[in-house]
Amino acid sequence: MTRAAPTTLRPTTAKDVRDAVADTPGRIAITGAGTARHWAGRPQETDATLDLSGLTGVIAHNPGDMTVSVHAGTPLRDLAGELAGHGQRLALDAARTAAGATVGGLLATADAGPSALVYGGMRDLVIGTTSVLADGTMVRSGGHVIKNVAGYDMAKLLHGSYGVFGPVVEVVLRLHPVPKATACVAVDGPVDDAAAKVRTLMASPLEPVAVEWVSGDPGRLLVRLEGGANTLPGRVGRVCELLGDGAAEVGDEAWSRHAALTGGPADGTGAVVRIGCAPARLAGLLSELPATAVTAGLATGVATVTVPGAAVGQVHESVAAASGTSVLRDRPADLDAPAWGPAPSALPLLKAVRTQLDPDARFAPGRFDPWM
Ligand SMILES: Cc1cc2nc3c(=O)[nH]c(=O)nc-3n(C[C@H](O)[C@H](O)[C@H](O)COP(=O)(O)OP(=O)(O)OC[C@H]3O[C@@H](n4cnc5c(N)ncnc54)[C@H](O)[C@@H]3O)c2cc1C
Repeated sequence: MTRAAPTTLRPTTAKDVRDAVADTPGRIAITGAGTARHWAGRPQETDATLDLSGLTGVIAHNPGDMTVSVHAGTPLRDLAGELAGHGQRLALDAARTAAGATVGGLLATADAGPSALVYGGMRDLVIGTTSVLADGTMVRSGGHVIKNVAGYDMAKLLHGSYGVFGPVVEVVLRLHPVPKATACVAVDGPVDDAAAKVRTLMASPLEPVAVEWVSGDPGRLLVRLEGGANTLPGRVGRVCELLGDGAAEVGDEAWSRHAALTGGPADGTGAVVRIGCAPARLAGLLSELPATAVTAGLATGVATVTVPGAAVGQVHESVAAASGTSVLRDRPADLDAPAWGPAPSALPLLKAVRTQLDPDARFAPGRFDPWM
């Protein structure tokens, strides 16, 4: 017997999402804009797809409190446009924002960009969430007030959940001002040299917002600064001095190249793996990997590497040996490689939470395969 094609549900309100979950039996895949659909474990067959890309828009923006609540399917680039009119922003510069990534999808994939060094990732910027459990219960946690935790902080749990705890329908975010001025200083050199420079830079009072090494011949260290229009040039000069010979201010396009490298090669060959470890161990770890393209947050410990598909298992092992974590991102459609490294010691707890929230494992099957 041929299996019926899965239904696609496209709710436009939180209540519609709840009704869709309550009224749809079986297993449900969750999608936003689809910019990370190949990330992590390959989605397994489901009975329905919950497409949240129609659940968009700002619910409430409180410029005075610097908070905003949005429907989870809102593309971050659209939100950024609305906030910019008030001189505010969500301080998250994940590379796939330009491709239309949604706020809910960025939260569910724990994605972040270079400025996570100072502003953190979504888990640090989210102050409230509303999500729907497998039995249709709507769960609200946090809100517009930062100091308001009462009960379980669901936002932390949903961060990096890849949808397995259920769809996120609303997200409340803390905002930051758009900086008056930004600048980027670059210096060429291999990753070990860059790592030594970053240690000195981070011990200085110069407060970079992002510090990333990008691979090349020989590679390049990028340092982003933010500040006042009058004070920034002086700090740029001091950073150039600290980084030494060859350091100079470059244009913003340096960051476009960085963003492009995190997406892997344009011809779709190779696999992209996101890795994280203690910052002090990152340069050494990278030297062990057969990477063809690298962006490395030398002060955050987070790197994105492109490797041959056959090397993904080896990458997971090397990262685990350095006490880090890794997850497979973009890869060729036919690549059969493990999405995750060795299971974390907290896996029984993760399974117990999932059993509590979604006892029949209805949501997003396959995303944490083979862990659960
Ligand atoms: C939305 C929001 C609302 C808040 N409201 C309040 C408030 O009303 N009153 C207030 O005093 N503070 C509040 N805080 C601050 C926050 O609760 C504390 O700062 C928190 O305990 C530590 O935060 P962190 O960012 O350092 O660590 P987190 O990033 O929150 O935690 C890191 C990890 O450590 C765990 N962890 C953190 N603290 C402990 C602990 N003490 N014991 C065991 N495990 C722990 C977390 O579960 C997590 O796994 C709020 C924070 C947020 C995000």
